[in-house]
Formats: sequence, C-alpha cells, structure tokens
Amino acid sequence: MGVTFSSENQSDTNLQAEDHLALLRKTTGNDKPIAQHIVTHHHTDHMMGLNDVVKQGANLVIHPTNIIAVRKHLQEPLADNRFVRIKEASYLADGKVMLFDVPNSHAKHNLALYLPDHKLIFTEDMFGSSFQTELHSPNGWPSVDTYHRLDVLVNKINQLDIKVDQYVSSHHARVLNQAEIDKALVLSRPSKDQLIKRLFSGNTEQ
Ligand SMILES: [Zn+2]
Ligand SMILES: [Zn+2]
Repeated sequence: MGVTFSSENQSDTNLQAEDHLALLRKTTGNDKPIAQHIVTHHHTDHMMGLNDVVKQGANLVIHPTNIIAVRKHLQEPLADNRFVRIKEASYLADGKVMLFDVPNSHAKHNLALYLPDHKLIFTEDMFGSSFQTELHSPNGWPSVDTYHRLDVLVNKINQLDIKVDQYVSSHHARVLNQAEIDKALVLSRPSKDQLIKRLFSGNTEQ
C-alpha cells in the first residue's frame, strides 16, 4: 500500500500529480498503487492535487473536522467511504505509519505523521525554519508563534512517548535534528505584551 501527501508545490493539473508519482516510483522503485493519501489540515496549499489523487483512486486519510473543507475543494462529490477518519493516534500500513492529531494555533486539527522504523516525524505548518542553517528570530510575529506550536508538538510527542530523531516540515527544505529542536525550545521569546508594545512604539529592534 502506498501513502502520499499533498504538498504546496503540487498543482491541480493531472500532469503535475503524475509527475510527482513518477518521481516517487523512480526514486523508490515502488510501483504499488497509491491506496491512501493524507490530508494533514484544511488549508488550500495542503489540498493541491487532491482532485487528481481521488481520480486515481486513493482514499483520503483525514481528521473528520476537515472533511467539509475537502468536499468544498473537490470538483466532484466524493463517497463517504473514501474518507479514512483519524481522530485518535492510529497506525496505517501495518504499523509502519503512525498518525496523530496536534490541535494548534495554526489549524484546529492537524495530523502529524510518524515513521517508527525511521524515528522521523513529518508535520505541516507546525514548526521550522526556511533558513539553511539558522532558526528564525522569535522576536516578531508570526515567527514567534511557530515556537509556541513547537511546544505543542513536543508535548504531544512526549505524551505519546515516541522517540524522534528527524523533524521534517512541509514548507522547509531542511530536516531538523533533536539538537536543533532543543535549541529552538530554549530560545527566549518575547511575550504578547512585549510584541504589542514594540509594534506601537515603532521600535523595530530585533
Ligand atoms: Zn496551513
Ligand atoms: Zn502550509
């Protein structure tokens, strides 16, 4: 069974979705049909390509709350049994893939994917840095919010008692390791009051 994700650089044209699938097949040598496709949350940049994905026959793995947005996004109605609903921490693909919901300030329900064999976590819009080496400065909005979301994610990881070595975030090319996550967690963050004060005093000092 194959499991795929929508990513922000996929478009809704057939060619794009097929290109991505072809690349996946080429790099992995896996030619099994894609049976399930994970929709982490309801934002449009994470639903791109879905029309093609369902046409190709994959079912959508999703938090039930986000089904309404997906139905609106799809050009054709999709039968109820094409949705695989994930509410609690669950396993797919014979235990190779674990999914759990991490409600946070960015999206009320956002599925995180964990590969136990590789100790790798994949999340979308929860933490990260687009910089090659450094983390974003927490001294401004919205960057500071990604640090708060990281807290939420790490708390959930601890609560589930899973070990993570690699942190992958959809909008970022770079994979973060535990040392980088630890560094991000201890960076001092300005309070909401401090941020508002800076905003209105015109002080742009970082
Ligand atoms: Zn989002
Ligand atoms: Zn996004």
